Amino acid sequence: MAHLRFEALKKLNERSPVFVEAPTQNASQFFGEYVFGTEQMRATLAPAVFKKVNQAIKNHEKIDEVTADAVASAAKSWAMAKGATHFTHWFQPMTGGTAEKHDAFFDALAGIEKFKGSELVQQEPDASSFPNGGIRSTFEARGYTAWDPTSPMFLYGKTLTIPTIFVSYTGETLDTKSPLLKALKAVDIAATKVCQLFDKDIQHVTASLGSEQEYFVIDKALFNARPDLVMAGRSVYGHAPARGQQLEDHYFGAIPSRVYDFMKDFEIEAWKLGIPVRTRHNEVAPSQFEVAPLFEEVNVANDHNQLLMDLMNRVGERHDLKILFHEKPFAGLNGSGKHNNWSLITDTGVNLYQPTSSARDNLMFLTFFVTTVKAVHEYADLLRASIATPANDFRLGANEAPPAIMSVFLGSQMSAVLDELEKKGNVKIEKGDNMYMKLGIDQIPEIILDATDRNRTSPFAFTGNKFEFRAVGGSDNCATPMTALNLIVAEQLEQFNAAVEKEVEKGTEKRLAIVNILRTYIKESKNIRFEGDGYSEEWVKEAAKRKLGNVKTTPRALDAYLTKKSLDLFEKHGVMNHKEVEARNEIRLESYIKRVQIEARVMGDLAMNHIIPTAINYQTKLIANANGLKGLGVDNKAVVQTIKEISGHIDLIKKNVRAMIEERKRLNKLSDTHKKAVGYCDDIKEKYFDVIRDSVDKLELLVDNEDWPLVKYRELLFLR
Ligand code: ADP
Ligand code: MG
Repeated sequence: MAHLRFEALKKLNERSPVFVEAPTQNASQFFGEYVFGTEQMRATLAPAVFKKVNQAIKNHEKIDEVTADAVASAAKSWAMAKGATHFTHWFQPMTGGTAEKHDAFFDALAGIEKFKGSELVQQEPDASSFPNGGIRSTFEARGYTAWDPTSPMFLYGKTLTIPTIFVSYTGETLDTKSPLLKALKAVDIAATKVCQLFDKDIQHVTASLGSEQEYFVIDKALFNARPDLVMAGRSVYGHAPARGQQLEDHYFGAIPSRVYDFMKDFEIEAWKLGIPVRTRHNEVAPSQFEVAPLFEEVNVANDHNQLLMDLMNRVGERHDLKILFHEKPFAGLNGSGKHNNWSLITDTGVNLYQPTSSARDNLMFLTFFVTTVKAVHEYADLLRASIATPANDFRLGANEAPPAIMSVFLGSQMSAVLDELEKKGNVKIEKGDNMYMKLGIDQIPEIILDATDRNRTSPFAFTGNKFEFRAVGGSDNCATPMTALNLIVAEQLEQFNAAVEKEVEKGTEKRLAIVNILRTYIKESKNIRFEGDGYSEEWVKEAAKRKLGNVKTTPRALDAYLTKKSLDLFEKHGVMNHKEVEARNEIRLESYIKRVQIEARVMGDLAMNHIIPTAINYQTKLIANANGLKGLGVDNKAVVQTIKEISGHIDLIKKNVRAMIEERKRLNKLSDTHKKAVGYCDDIKEKYFDVIRDSVDKLELLVDNEDWPLVKYRELLFLR
């Protein structure tokens, strides 16, 4: 198999850059060219129809059939004028990634191109091959997709693509988008109520997301020569290269030219699709990069992130590059995250996490700030569960990634503000706007938060005007963590509002009531605040003392969804009923099992069919050599020693791979998904992956480089 490796390396050396024609226009002229968005609707719909669509979007309402017909007809004309032949309902099933089924506009029977409102609004893809956690087997086998008018349609290739939700025939959610939309509605309602304590003009609050996407870029030929990358998305073997990231010379360094061409190419495509990508740079590990868009409304931002990943894969093909979004493709190097920058913004244009110079707005800011910290404190385990995937388990707590312990970083200024607010005893409010003087926190209005006050080791950090949820995995769909975050904040805001109402009823002045409740929240949520080094051992100990969760593995982390507290939370805000949450957990556990199973098989196959035969061949050469030396009367101790070492590793590998197979057989008989997933975690992954890998990686150093079958880390990771 070594010839595959060398053929791939030869291809790599023969690659020439792929020419990317720079557009003659400025980006502003073609940005959103392929989007049927608000502007296109305004231009093509009758004013009354346009108004209806807009209202429905704002108020999370259904769009009636007549309106849908008008939109469908306008969208069809717009798309066909740009060469579209098909339309598709685009959805995000629980498999991760996106799914679609294309239908032609052309109706052969009628002999014309058609696209009816009913086809825009609803489709019935064959749902039986998507994961459902047992929901559909007890109900109807059918599922349907329904138009999500809050995310614009777009033209992808020759297909008019319609963002949709995916639900079972009886209405249970089978995708990641529907719970997200419901959580966003919940946070809109709760946040608006709280805003109205301060400003009656505020009618809606929108959650915003800017997701910084980290990824690795690998030459396609090298990728294809690594069955583990192909099958599992990560390398299960590979000795660390002599030069990893220790020189710290890659971060913000010059971008290699092939990657630069690729970036230019996908950015142009992204802009045409209305994805506001903005920042690009090298990341910490060799061959690791980042792309960050401007923030947008959460649902649209997440659709754009999903589309962007797909686009990057496709454009990568043109450049003979493979894009890895996996959380931990290479052991010993940084993994990839998808930092979720998040804030709440009112329809009057106020970012609720932005301190200002106005006293009124600052009390509102403090309210949202403290309530968010409190929400994370109350539901830290749920937040942890929301980012739990088998791949993210490899990343969390490993090289330069936030730990599995949830905590909030506030920065020294905001910490001081909260400490002060907490300590002041009897707060007296005088009429007028000078209550900050009374609170002793008169400095707030002048605070311009220092943007350099950063803590990159925190899983959830305040960064001056937004929170950054850094624990989200690189390949993950942000909808799941964003559903959890917006939901817990909605709940906390609702509780806050109820508490204020109660105090005010008792006759407490409103602002005093607000301040008092915030002070209780600050006291109650202190444990979740951590300003130190989240990567350190001390923090692990300190967190244990504080009784904060440190759940390192997915099957156990997911339990947080099934507590009464969580189940009730989802149901109360209409996001998911108990059955839906349970089904979702079942799906995630099943997916966990399958992924670990695939990795275990890949490890076994590679070890038994590629590594061991290679090692034996090399050993045979050494034996001939040892015998030759012996015949000449030359000392052959060193060679014999190597032969023994190789034998030792071969034995270990064989023994462990066989035992791992037996263990899988045992686990596969279990019918309880949770037990099985925990078994796959403890008795397969934890027990065997590292020991097998250790022997294989040692053999990589012993066996002649010319014979080694797997492309080595140093070859994979240093693209020019
Ligand atoms: P940093 O350098 O701290 O990572 P950036 O300004 O580059 O900060 O922003 C990182 C990401 O955060 C970008 O995607 C950006 O659009 C997003 N972002 C900025 N402000 C907000 C906000 N108010 N809400 C949500 N995301 C935001
Ligand atoms: Mg950032």
